[in-house]
Amino acid sequence: MIKTVGVIGAGQMGNGIAHVFALAGYNVLLSDISADALKQAEVVIDKNLNRQVAKELISEDECAAALNNINTTVGLLNFNDVDLAIEAVTENEDIKKSIFVELSDILKPGAILATNTSSISVTRLAAVSDRPDKFIGVHFMNPVPIMSLVEIIRGIATSDETNNIIKEIVEKLGKISAESEDFPGFIVNRILMPMINEAAYTLYEGVGNVSSIDLSMRLGANHPMGPLQLADFIGLDTCLSIMKVLNNGFADTKYRPCPLLVKYVEAGWLGKKTGRGFYDYAGGDAVPTR
Ligand code: NAD
Repeated sequence: MIKTVGVIGAGQMGNGIAHVFALAGYNVLLSDISADALKQAEVVIDKNLNRQVAKELISEDECAAALNNINTTVGLLNFNDVDLAIEAVTENEDIKKSIFVELSDILKPGAILATNTSSISVTRLAAVSDRPDKFIGVHFMNPVPIMSLVEIIRGIATSDETNNIIKEIVEKLGKISAESEDFPGFIVNRILMPMINEAAYTLYEGVGNVSSIDLSMRLGANHPMGPLQLADFIGLDTCLSIMKVLNNGFADTKYRPCPLLVKYVEAGWLGKKTGRGFYDYAGGDAVPTR
């Protein structure tokens, strides 16, 4: 029986995952290496829950109960009590692996270990843990409180029992799961990221500017957001990391990361979270940069 859920990484995904579990009645332990990230996450969760109250999606009591269900901690030492640990740190294989190695010594034997990776092999991440049978990919979409899909990815050793427990939990969160095989990018990012990368190439080659590319895809393909706006929202570092996983995993040049995307990440222009990406957010509004 899963009662306490540990979330590692309190960035945009980690705070959203903590939010939906707390709202569904689970005890949540939210962790990060940065105390500042935790403080910021608490502010964001409070704001997002209160927005749901204002929209009459949840009651004030539900909001208060959810906030009460969340505790924060720097590091992983308090994870000995969690029944399920979900990793949502930066999309970097080495960082994720070091967390699974550390957690293997801390978690109780029956605890399930999950990763929110957007693209990295679940089987490879599971292999560094002490429990590949209890290891699974649970890929939430951004923003977590709003998006209904969760991709579930079994590693080669994931047990039926682990898979069934996670499917039930996703349902309890009020979300819908889609199962994907463990291939680079799974389903959503296998399709979405090459489109975003192609939008960056379209900009890089001067076929269109930021506004015309996003306008074309919003009105021409009926996408709710343009691909460059979406890339800024996801985080350009995350987009680049996923393209690298696709490029390395398939060894097919069609996945070559756009040099302009690489340059933006090298400049620290990571999108909305750093105030600048394909758009500049300094003045509050999104202003196209090219
Ligand atoms: P983010 O940059 O907003 O947050 C990452 C957090 O991880 C930061 O708070 C950072 O301090 C923390 N962190 C880094 N190293 C750590 C460590 N060793 N221990 C503990 N915390 C550490 O990133 P994000 O957008 O929340 O992405 C997190 C994960 O979720 C990635 O694997 C990403 O691919 C995946 N994901 C992202 C999206 C998206 O749209 N951004 C969607 C689905 C999945």
